[in-house]
This record gives sequence, structure tokens and C-alpha cells, in this order.
Amino acid sequence: MRMSSAVLVVGAGFAGAVLARELAEAGRTVRVIDRRPHIGGNAFDALNEHGERLHVYGPHLLHGEADSVAIRWLSRFTEWEPYEHRVRAVLADGRTTPLPVNRTTLEDVFGVELPTEESAKELLASEVVAGTPNNTDEFFLANVGPRLADIFFRPYTRKMWGVSPTQLEAAVGARLPVRWNRDDRYFTDSFQAMPKDGFTAMFERILDHPLISVSLGQSYGPDLDADVSHTFLSLPIDEYFGFRFGRLPYRSIRFETSSVSADQPATVINYTDTGIYTRCTQWDLIPNSGRRQDGQHTVTREIPCDAADNNNECYYPVRNSETLARYEQYEALAATEPNKTFIGRCGLFRYLDMVPCVNIHLRLAATFLGQQAQAVA
Ligand code: UDP
Repeated sequence: MRMSSAVLVVGAGFAGAVLARELAEAGRTVRVIDRRPHIGGNAFDALNEHGERLHVYGPHLLHGEADSVAIRWLSRFTEWEPYEHRVRAVLADGRTTPLPVNRTTLEDVFGVELPTEESAKELLASEVVAGTPNNTDEFFLANVGPRLADIFFRPYTRKMWGVSPTQLEAAVGARLPVRWNRDDRYFTDSFQAMPKDGFTAMFERILDHPLISVSLGQSYGPDLDADVSHTFLSLPIDEYFGFRFGRLPYRSIRFETSSVSADQPATVINYTDTGIYTRCTQWDLIPNSGRRQDGQHTVTREIPCDAADNNNECYYPVRNSETLARYEQYEALAATEPNKTFIGRCGLFRYLDMVPCVNIHLRLAATFLGQQAQAVA
């Protein structure tokens, strides 16, 4: 019997949608399922009753290099609204200051004037503890030193990840740079923009192809593999294998949405203290959002928690040497199933930003199609 060349894609987020589109354009029939009632994965956004665009799973700010394959690819499916994201952290006395740490932040914290980049560099040099960082705490010490780490990074990281920064791989802390200039943008990439009509509309266009069918509210089960040649799975790899080597830990977030009357000083305010909240987003400061008629602003505060305490909503893989060793066991098991490929944050157990995620899955689609062509030849 000739096996169908159809493929199943489990998960309609960035990973699954990119793969689905690429495979469909190569002539493959693609069935996409998602257990949630919507497409877009954690980038899903929707207008609320006031016409503001809310990102239902927390703020997603798109940034990358303008000439990257991913940005060019996404631009086929959306127009863009230029947007440079800014974040401010609340200090103990209630003032706010720019994040990532820049020259202004150093002045605000230490109450000094730093007229030049050189003076900021000197101040930081007197704060840092030299050494090659092996974990996120050591990264903070080497990058900003203990005083700034205690204000901005150690308490936030502990509540965000539920463990000490000493128990996280250095790459987690390394996401935030330190600047000697006064650039107060959160990202410095050459391309920073929001999809004009939101992420969900962009995903609708990506998935709008005659060879793609989408079933929402549909969980994966092995019966669905029966008439496909290959399955791409974005469900957590440990869940797929029945947690046989133990759980891979994930952090999750609970969201509290409310209304405020005054504008925040930045789209996102970070609470870097030991309280329960990590950040607060004012949605109408993102330019592809509408604004309320009543002069109020909708804001969402985030409270991190373990995925196990939040219906197994897995957002952030908790990566350290122990969990990576466990992931490798699952990865080795996955290699014994040649008709399955794990994708996305949960399938790959990786902290993936949107643009790298698109790049990785475009490459994955090309590799898959190349292998298939070779097998036929
Ligand atoms: N971080 C921190 N203080 C902050 C912001 C970030 O300590 O005010 C650390 C924290 O460990 C966090 C990591 O830097 O998980 C990455 O931050 P980012 O804003 O990139 O997180 P994301 O937007 O992916 O949640």
C-alpha cells in the first residue's frame, strides 16, 4: 500500500504554522490541529470589548534583523506597524528607570551624574565581579555586579523561574544587555514592528492555503497518525512519552487584567522586587491597538507560577544541567520514531523568541523536504 504524503502538524503556533505553510507550498496536504480553540499559539491576540488588542498569553514584541529570512517570510502575510518597545522598572522609592540597564539607569540608582559612556563603563567596572559565568547568577555578577543584581535581576529571576538564578543556565540572564549609552529601547534589532492587524490575522493568512486544513479544540492522539506519512509535534516532549523519565519543568503565567485611568510611563513596567508580580502591560501603548472611548486603559499584570499549577500551560522551559540531561533522554527516544519530529518551545524544550522560531522551522521544513526528495530519488 502506498503511504499518503499528507502530514499532521500538532500545534498552530509559530512553529506549526510556518511548517504547515512551507509544506503546503511544496505540494503536501497538511492537517493542523490545536487543542486550544484558536490559532496563533501563545502569540494569539484579540480585541477586547473596548477595541484594545490584548495578547492573551502575555506581550509579544516582534524584533529581529530586517534582512533575516524570517522577517522577509512573515512580511508575505502581514503589513507592519513600526514599534520600538520600552520597559521601565520600579525602584524602591517608586520612581521608574529604564531597563535594560543603561547610563540613565545607573544615574537613577546611584544618584550620580555620568556625563560620558566612559564614566558609565568605569562605574560598572567597579561593580562587577570578574569571572566566566556558568549560571545566570554568575552572569549577573560578571555583567552588572551584586548591587544592581539585587535591585533588578535576582528577585525578579527568582520569582519568574521559581528557582535561584544559580540554578539556571547563563543564557537566561544573558537575554538582557547592559548599555553605557542612553538607548532605552528594550531591543536594538534593525527590525521592530507589530503585525498591523495583530498576530492572529497574520496566522490566519499563513494558514490560508488550499492544502492546509485546521481543526481547533482537537487534541493529539496516535490514531491521528494513521493516514499521514509524518507528524510534527509541538506538544511537550515529556508529555508525549508519558513522562517516563520524569517531568520537564516549565514556568507558566497567570494574568490579571484591570483598568487604570493614568498612562504608565512605558508599555511595560517591571516589578523587580520580591512581590508576586513581574510586569504590567498597558495594551493601548502598542500602536496596533485601539483605544478606549472612556479614557481608561486596560492593563495586564503577570504572576509567574509552575505550569503544573496552571493546567499544565507550559510557557518557559526551565533549563539547567539536570533538566537538559532529562530532555536529552527524551530526545534520544524521539530519534527512534523516524516519522515524528518535535517542534516549538515545548517539543524542543528551548526558550525561543518569535523570529528565531520562524527561522528554525523554515530550516526544518527545508531539511524535511530535502530528505523526502532524496528518499524518492
Ligand atoms: N530579567 C530580570 N529582571 C527584569 C527583566 C528580566 O531579572 O526586570 C531576567 C529574568 O531572568 C528574565 C530574563 O531576564 O526571565 C529574560 O527577560 P525577558 O524580558 O527577555 O523575558 P520574557 O519577555 O521572555 O519573559
